[in-house]
Amino acid sequence: MDDSSFKAMAAEIDGLLGIDEARCSGLRTDSVAVRGYRGVDKDTGSISFPIYQSATFAHPAFGQSTGYCYSRCGNPTRLELENTIAALEGGKKAMAFSSGMAAISCLIKLMKSGDHAVVSDDLYGGTYRLFSQVFSQYGLEFTYADLTDEAALEAAFRPNTRLVFLETPTNPMMKVADIAAVADAAHVHGALLAVDNTFLTMYFQRPFDFGADIVVYSGTKYLCGHNDVLSGFLVVRDEELIEPLFNAAMSEGNQLAPFDSWLMIRSLKTLGVRLRQQEKNALRIAEFLKSNPHVTEVHYVGSPDHPNYQRSLRQTTGFGAMISFKTDTKQRAVDALERTKLVLFAESLGGAESLMTYPLVQTHGSIPAEMRDALGIDERLLRLSVGIEDVEDLLADLEQALA
Ligand SMILES: *Cc1c(COP(=O)(O)O)cnc(C)c1O
Repeated sequence: MDDSSFKAMAAEIDGLLGIDEARCSGLRTDSVAVRGYRGVDKDTGSISFPIYQSATFAHPAFGQSTGYCYSRCGNPTRLELENTIAALEGGKKAMAFSSGMAAISCLIKLMKSGDHAVVSDDLYGGTYRLFSQVFSQYGLEFTYADLTDEAALEAAFRPNTRLVFLETPTNPMMKVADIAAVADAAHVHGALLAVDNTFLTMYFQRPFDFGADIVVYSGTKYLCGHNDVLSGFLVVRDEELIEPLFNAAMSEGNQLAPFDSWLMIRSLKTLGVRLRQQEKNALRIAEFLKSNPHVTEVHYVGSPDHPNYQRSLRQTTGFGAMISFKTDTKQRAVDALERTKLVLFAESLGGAESLMTYPLVQTHGSIPAEMRDALGIDERLLRLSVGIEDVEDLLADLEQALA
């Protein structure tokens, strides 16, 4: 890989400079998800996109290429997944990584030593650890602020702010930021807005419509939906960001493998049916939890009494299926984790299987105690990712676990 200039490579790899929007135009989200970007394989009629399990690609002749040379730069299965994600999101180009953290690590390569980023304070613990323990060692600065509060957001900017990293709804407290307001503020200060859209996905929330520049995913969650693949994505709205991010990704080599890319292509086909069922179940479960005498607080964006319910209605087409709630005592929270039978006590979220976690020590263990206290992440807080099981069985399981 000596002649690795982006332009030379882009000329060879179809779709590297961005997707051809016309290919999926007129199709709605569920149809794009099922068909994929290229659709049925023209040569064989294979409905399942082929797995190109190859690290390298032969040159037909000196100075010629099939469009592919080496899988770190481009792999046909990964490219089909990336292009499908870009088409679903309404972005110009998507890049698939081996995990959500790998995608976020690549995103940070847009920053240079001395640059500053404004970050949601209530965010995934692993992202906090990556910024505060790893990237802070390389001359990058991060300010954590409540991005659902416009005054707090405004106060967090500095002259060297290059990026705003927003998670909405937040994890685990389910606060909702006004994406358009955050995008406007970022742009006024000369910064880019990246939105971690893991909780709602493009199925329910489309950050590009509100001015975001980059959408970030842990694909491990709803996009995968089966708790069996780690993956991550960056999607860019405009062509200018393709080259710096592609160069970073291609140089570092954290891309998603062909087989995992194929599993993700398969997963996306059911994104809509899974999310609709998960949300339907979550609405019932949130109501049940609110009426349970041992539950003192319920945070679900889809409850009309959620403080940001109206804001959600304005910028999303659904509420997702993440619920956090507090029990009356620590012991009851611990007992509930041990007593559920259908709901599993496990980290992660978004899959067909309902999972419950204890954010204080699991997902948010790396967040400092003062920050956790200020956010309300305490020993009585549980986070539930609602799956697609029969809701009556889920309700019965939670009822006995909380009794
Ligand atoms: C899980 C998660 C991540 C990290 O993704 P991995 O795939 O686990 O590396 C980032 N952001 C959010 C919101 C997450 O839930």
